Amino acid sequence: MNILSPALAANRPISLPELLTSRESRQHRQQAWLARHQVSLISLTLVAPGAVKDNPLTRKLFALAWQAIMTLSQQQHWPVLQQEVFPLPTGCEGLIAVDLPAEQVKDAALLLELKHPQGRLWDIDVLDASGQILSRSDVGLPPRRCLLCHRPANVCGRAQTHSIDELLAQMELMLNATTATH
Ligand SMILES: [Zn+2]
Repeated sequence: MNILSPALAANRPISLPELLTSRESRQHRQQAWLARHQVSLISLTLVAPGAVKDNPLTRKLFALAWQAIMTLSQQQHWPVLQQEVFPLPTGCEGLIAVDLPAEQVKDAALLLELKHPQGRLWDIDVLDASGQILSRSDVGLPPRRCLLCHRPANVCGRAQTHSIDELLAQMELMLNATTATH
């Protein structure tokens, strides 16, 4: 059975403490993987506005993102030591341990993100073997744009310029735009 099946989504609002705990758990998982493999790490999550972080929409988007990264790693013959998805009520997460320089992995991930119609909805962190996260500014990229307008995403996020419904509707559009062409 597919553990990412949309039918298995938790579909419930997540509280702030739960969200904070999930971030800590993610960091612990990353540290454990880094200690085990001592290579670069890709950590995939989704941009998910609103309190419900695991629903059929985010599951479909995550499954497509994961698939795209898997295809890339196969095409480029990445030496992948371990890969796993974690379908959590706080949102799906994916981890990939790759025995390549973190900069190379980050460049490839960013390129994929730019090329893919839903890449804007992905949150790909690349950590080097020492656990340092490579940020967008590290590779000379500006902060991300808002899903709905030209402003930086964190500006609209802070000011709550757009409603959760508007943002979710936009994500739905982006999902349908891709699946319609296949
Ligand atoms: Zn905006």
